[in-house]
Order: sequence, then structure tokens, then C-alpha cells
Amino acid sequence: MTGKHRHIAIPSKTKTVPFSGCVSPDRCVPGSHDNVTVHEYCSCGAVRKTNVNGSFREHGEWKKNG
Ligand SMILES: [Zn+2]
Ligand SMILES: [Zn+2]
Repeated sequence: MTGKHRHIAIPSKTKTVPFSGCVSPDRCVPGSHDNVTVHEYCSCGAVRKTNVNGSFREHGEWKKNG
């Protein structure tokens, strides 16, 4: 079962933490840095990090730990 699952963020699990680094070096949005990073969690355990600063957003990829 690979390739079919679409990651969906669970709203109640989303948390916002202080900015700690670029989440998408390949498609960096410098204006999104230095504020906060939103962590979203899928039911499968994958995590997506998004840097948010005002109207700037930098989306990372969904990643599974381990
Ligand atoms: Zn998922
Ligand atoms: Zn960046």
C-alpha cells in the first residue's frame, strides 16, 4: 500500500512553535523566516512543517519519522 495515501493534517494536533530553521531549502521563502513554524500531523504519523511570518508561508514536505 504505497502511493495512495494522501496526508491530511489533524487540526487538533497542529501546533505552533518558534522558528528554528528553513523547512524548504529548495523553494525557500526568506520572508517566512524568523517568526513561527507550524507543525501539522497526519494520522499515519507524518509531519509537515510550515514557516509562517505575516503573509509569507514556506511549506515543507510531509515526512515520516523513522
Ligand atoms: Zn499520512
Ligand atoms: Zn527558507
